[in-house]
Amino acid sequence: MPKLSIRDLQLKGKRVFIRVDFNVPIKDGKVDDDTRIRAALPTIAYATERGARVIVASHLGRPKGQRVDKYSLRPVFQKLQELLATPAAEVVIESPIGAPKSGSIDFADDCVGEAAESKIAVMKDGDVLLLENLRFHPEEEKNDAGFASLLASLCDGLYVNDAFGAAHRAHASSAGITKFVKQSAAGLLMEKELDYLGRVINNPEHPFVAILGGAKVSDKIPVINALIDRKVDRLLIGGAMAYTFLKAEGFTVGKSLVENEMLDTARQIKERCEKSGVALLLPTDHQVVDSYEPIKGDQVVAKTIPIHFTNAGHAGMDIGTETVGHFADALKDAKTIIWNGPMGVFEEPPFDQGTIGIAKAAAEAADRGATVIIGGGDSVAAVARAGVADRITHISTGGGATLEFLAGDELPGVAALSDKSP
Ligand code: AMP
Repeated sequence: MPKLSIRDLQLKGKRVFIRVDFNVPIKDGKVDDDTRIRAALPTIAYATERGARVIVASHLGRPKGQRVDKYSLRPVFQKLQELLATPAAEVVIESPIGAPKSGSIDFADDCVGEAAESKIAVMKDGDVLLLENLRFHPEEEKNDAGFASLLASLCDGLYVNDAFGAAHRAHASSAGITKFVKQSAAGLLMEKELDYLGRVINNPEHPFVAILGGAKVSDKIPVINALIDRKVDRLLIGGAMAYTFLKAEGFTVGKSLVENEMLDTARQIKERCEKSGVALLLPTDHQVVDSYEPIKGDQVVAKTIPIHFTNAGHAGMDIGTETVGHFADALKDAKTIIWNGPMGVFEEPPFDQGTIGIAKAAAEAADRGATVIIGGGDSVAAVARAGVADRITHISTGGGATLEFLAGDELPGVAALSDKSP
């Protein structure tokens, strides 16, 4: 059943509660990467331009139910102020309605109680109020009904969830609150995420290729199984994950990261791929070091070797150039590509080369008309570092939420939204 959208709400003169995902990196008291804030601007602008009084709430980090200064949303407030004051031409946002115009913007020191209520009482149509971190209250993550009703009491029965990245958690601000408002709708970003990811799950154009990387096989099993069920044509596995598969096939992987308890699972996945006609591509070469120690600064002594030359002392850090070539070939005629997880220890150059190579190949596929969807912090960062972000069809803001959605799980934050009436 399709869910209600912010476009279905009568917003004029109403207080609307918008749950966003402003869980951004903060460095020296400043927002270090504002991608997630920009991603929510279209929804905020949509509401302010229609004369709503916009109450914005988010979590930041893991303050574990206590007020912790370093997790305050104040730096986010400063960034939001800047972005809302910037002429639209300078803010690259995909807003269907253009400029992020608003009245005044203010910050409340708490997300419930007097601090929030007094600021809300003086809001005018088109104003924005950002509330302090929801997770300063332990009740948020416990999905406490009393706390959810307090949040709901701040608005006029209108709730919008634009926090796709937090939709896989049933918390007070993502699930509980919907029981205490009249209408719960998806924001524009949430809609976009559900639209693109939904298309991959329900109706992918073939050839359909999935690229998976990162550290752990165990995190990605449900997604791999769902992708096989959805008739993915090719499954490309890189990153540390690949070593569990390679070891299961009998290769020596040395000191590379392996999940030994997943070896049987890796074999079963391989069998499932064979039975279902899914081509499973693993690295044929990799960049190795002789141990994990010498990866600091310029002491890096890395070399690229074929997988079958790996000895007991080698630790695999990234896919090699030959593998990048094979993987790029597998993307050439693809019509749908989904990618999650880096191909190597992307944080430590030169072990970012494989991931950047795949980012470029994915962008070239998008240029040829493929739908390319990328999720997960590292692959998204790689796409930015490779300078190809604007060529990718859709960059998902969710990490865990994207994986759970692709695995076919219903996200609590989406399930809780009101159904669109027929
Ligand atoms: P995940 O959270 O599962 O997507 O994993 C991301 C992490 O995997 C990143 O921090 C990478 O550094 C790490 N990673 C990727 N490839 C390797 C590798 N070959 N060896 C060790 N860690 C890796």
